[in-house]
Amino acid sequence: MTASALAAVSRSGPATAPLRTGADFLADLRNTPRTIIVDGRTVSDPSSDPAFREAARSIARLYDFAAAPENLETMTYPSPVDGLPALRAYQIPETHDDLRAKRIAAEKWAELTFGLMGRSPDHVAGFFCGFAAKSSVFAAGGQQYADNVVRFYEHLRATHAYVAYAIVPPQIDRSKPAHQQADPTLYAGVVKETTEGIYISGAQQLATGAVFADYIHLSSIHPLRPGDENYALSLAVPATAKGVRLYVRKPFNLQATDAGEYPLTTRFDETDSMVVFDNVFVPWEHVFAYKNLEVTFNQWWKTPAHLYGNLQAQARYATKLRFLLGIAKRMNEITGNDATPPVQVMMGELAAYASIVDGMLKSQETMATYDEEGVLWPSKTSLYSVMALQSEINPKMVDIVREMTGAGMLTIPSSSKDFDNPEIAAEIERYYVSGVTNAQDRIALMRLAWDFIGSEFGNRHQQYEKFYGGASFLVKMNVFRSFDFNRSGALVDKALNLPPVE
Ligand SMILES: Cc1cc2nc3c(=O)[nH]c(=O)nc-3n(C[C@H](O)[C@H](O)[C@H](O)COP(=O)(O)OP(=O)(O)OC[C@H]3O[C@@H](n4cnc5c(N)ncnc54)[C@H](O)[C@@H]3O)c2cc1C
Repeated sequence: MTASALAAVSRSGPATAPLRTGADFLADLRNTPRTIIVDGRTVSDPSSDPAFREAARSIARLYDFAAAPENLETMTYPSPVDGLPALRAYQIPETHDDLRAKRIAAEKWAELTFGLMGRSPDHVAGFFCGFAAKSSVFAAGGQQYADNVVRFYEHLRATHAYVAYAIVPPQIDRSKPAHQQADPTLYAGVVKETTEGIYISGAQQLATGAVFADYIHLSSIHPLRPGDENYALSLAVPATAKGVRLYVRKPFNLQATDAGEYPLTTRFDETDSMVVFDNVFVPWEHVFAYKNLEVTFNQWWKTPAHLYGNLQAQARYATKLRFLLGIAKRMNEITGNDATPPVQVMMGELAAYASIVDGMLKSQETMATYDEEGVLWPSKTSLYSVMALQSEINPKMVDIVREMTGAGMLTIPSSSKDFDNPEIAAEIERYYVSGVTNAQDRIALMRLAWDFIGSEFGNRHQQYEKFYGGASFLVKMNVFRSFDFNRSGALVDKALNLPPVE
């Protein structure tokens, strides 16, 4: 496909719906019941349940921000179908400037959640941009699958949809391939085929944000082996489809109910779900790869989907690190350590890591290259190098902040109720004061920092940064595959063939 053919693909599709507002998003959650299993009960409307309500509102704010007239230019682009605003997240980048614009839009959304909602609606959107841009990969399984993925992308773009994904098999017995598990319906796979579509049974992990999503993309990024054909799928199901059950891990905000004490947990717990498919019907038009090991594998690595999706992930991560540095700096100022040279050295180290992440984010854009079909690929080496380091630098950065703050995050009163008693409040005002601010502000900052670093929510984030893009040994293999070892080898050849010394 040439660049002009790519533009033609993105010019087709249904008319663009009016931009989705937060109220639209919440109404959609209310009006389309789903099956969420939490604490032994079933929740159908996450917008009204205490476990999910506040996170739903945080996502609603993203939609409101994008729909606000003053943000339209940053957050949307004219749909190639009819010129109406569509989310940048669904723009297939044709130029380096387009990539930059997508990155800036992702940063704007990330700032609204302080980088704490990783699977916001712009994440999987990037994957579908990559799939549609390179639909030839899906055509290898039959032209109808390529047509399906392009049409589905166009539908998502026209409706400003939110897609989550479950692309890792459950950790049941990793010593055996999918088809040799004790029961063929443990891993999500096809169990029946009709002229209308297919039926899926089994489980797949770990669909972050799925309780809020319109659709779930089911596939496998784990390598599958011959014999695993029933699991070699790429398809989309509505999160509300009959037979889809979302088993969420513990919603942290149910325990951390005081927003003053847990300002982040109470607002940004995006949830992670094991998805159980119980004989779920999927019409053929929502199937993009079917019983095809090669296409299932190639969709990740022979399209720019993984790069577009993770460009958003890195924009989010760079934002989160900026926030971390802000917290650390404020804490040092409050404790009067800010001017201490050893503390400045530690802050310098933190700033170096954050700047490397930021610089690598931008180099994904500037080093992007076109393939033979005119499709623009962000730099693989830039993306995978920083992702490979992320699982190592993230815990190190958090540890530096712990080191700098000593007991500061724990030397705070037990709860905001302590301020309700005037005598206790007076003593707290006296002893929890800082040289630069009052006790209330100091305590609020320390609570924010603890929620970011030490709470259950904060700890889940450390696991997230380690694993959201796959285990680090896999990411390092991606760097190995993309690095230009020929150029390195040429230098060695040159050194071995230097002219004789006089
Ligand atoms: C908070 C969070 C959110 C997530 N969100 C999503 C999401 O939205 N959608 C989604 O699909 N997935 C998501 N993931 C899942 C993520 O993709 C997987 O956790 C990740 O791919 C790692 O797979 P795994 O958990 O099965 O770990 P495993 O593959 O079991 O790896 C765990 C560890 O085992 C060791 N190991 C295993 N195999 C090997 C090997 N061959 N060689 C060397 N060492 C090995 C390594 O130490 C590795 O770190 C999320 C994960 C987390 C933690």
